Amino acid sequence: MRWHSRASERRPKEGRPSLLWFRQDLRLADNPALAAAAAQGPVIPLYVLEDNGAWPPGGAARWWLHESLVALAARIPLVVLHGAAAEVVPAFARTAGTSAVYWNRRYDPAGIACDKVVEASLKNDGVDAESFNGRLLFEPWEISTSIGGSFKVFTAFARACAEKPVRPPGEAPRVRWHGWEERAPVDSLGLKPQVGWYASMEKLWQPGELGAKKRLRRVAGDVAAHYKNRRDFPAMDGTSRLSPHLHFGEVSPQTVWHAASRAAAEEKASAAQSVQQFLRQLIWREFSWHLLYHFPALPEKPWNPKFARFHWRSDPETLRLWQKGLTGYPIVDAGMRQLWRTGWMHNRVRMIAGSFLVKHLLQDWRSGEEWFWDTLVDADLANNAAGWQ
Ligand SMILES: Cc1cc2nc3c(=O)[nH]c(=O)nc-3n(C[C@H](O)[C@H](O)[C@H](O)COP(=O)(O)OP(=O)(O)OC[C@H]3O[C@@H](n4cnc5c(N)ncnc54)[C@H](O)[C@@H]3O)c2cc1C
Repeated sequence: MRWHSRASERRPKEGRPSLLWFRQDLRLADNPALAAAAAQGPVIPLYVLEDNGAWPPGGAARWWLHESLVALAARIPLVVLHGAAAEVVPAFARTAGTSAVYWNRRYDPAGIACDKVVEASLKNDGVDAESFNGRLLFEPWEISTSIGGSFKVFTAFARACAEKPVRPPGEAPRVRWHGWEERAPVDSLGLKPQVGWYASMEKLWQPGELGAKKRLRRVAGDVAAHYKNRRDFPAMDGTSRLSPHLHFGEVSPQTVWHAASRAAAEEKASAAQSVQQFLRQLIWREFSWHLLYHFPALPEKPWNPKFARFHWRSDPETLRLWQKGLTGYPIVDAGMRQLWRTGWMHNRVRMIAGSFLVKHLLQDWRSGEEWFWDTLVDADLANNAAGWQ
């Protein structure tokens, strides 16, 4: 038996609401935990801001999260709380008299540890806990080598994924929301920055499920068909820019997968090839999470132990010039300034700017990883760590 609960044997007690604990799955469509909760009766939707751990959301991600929660709270009676989820969730479940708590699983070390504590605490109180996969195409343990081990090489991992079908996405369920009177506004979480540095981001992005849907429509049309020819040119708007939406779970990877696959079926053979390349990027995302799950120290320790004793030149001024886009190398500086203004950077430029910091300026990769963590709207523990490693 793994750390998470499977379908619970007990059924919610008549008339009592259940709790849907939103995490990085800020959407109503294709949300397996929500669908299961809705099938049982009235649902209280809850979000808990946990920002005391090792990797609390960075500045740009906090802005995005604020906007995404505001968008969600405009559609459902979302309860927002702040604190350590291991205590807050069971306490709220007790106060609200809920019969069961539903959530979609997470795969980062701190999240896994926390969820185990929450589950044990709920069970102790006689409250059911049920969890689902709402975040990945395949959970990290579903893809394994022929001897049941984890993968270290992407191509072999991708081959193993290709043998598994991707389940079709589900619709948004009909939900009987159970209002909770003492609801604080999303503002009370203090996520929105005091200074308006995010103005340039507001023009570019629409956080939330509806924004993700709009972006996905573009991907299913133009982007997927031309992805192969455009994705390597940073000056072109040739990639999906779905990464923050995927990170916050405003759209499921299954939804993206099937939307792009449908586009391939409707287009010419050349477009089908292009879509295959796009789908491969979603498998990179899976691979990052597979690595983090099996190597939980990925964000902090070198994947290759050879580098554990490497003598980095830790020079704050060199790092500052890189961060501000003042190295004098145009493509590096352009990328770093794009990151600062938009919260996003093209993949190829992330690779160039990252390699430049590590291999040319000889700064510790973790200083770059931390800067990206603070400035990317799509800052994602697994993808960022894997990118830097
Ligand atoms: C140093 C470095 C740091 C990175 N940090 C992050 C991060 O914090 N968050 C993040 O989401 N991605 C990160 N990436 C991966 C990649 O750069 C972004 O996912 C991509 O640029 C997002 O743009 P897009 O949505 O237009 O991607 P598309 O090309 O349209 O790809 C579609 C989706 O596939 C996934 N994807 C694409 N490329 C990768 C990749 N190389 N690894 C993992 N998943 C991928 C993303 O979810 C993306 O939204 C990093 C890469 C590097 C080299």
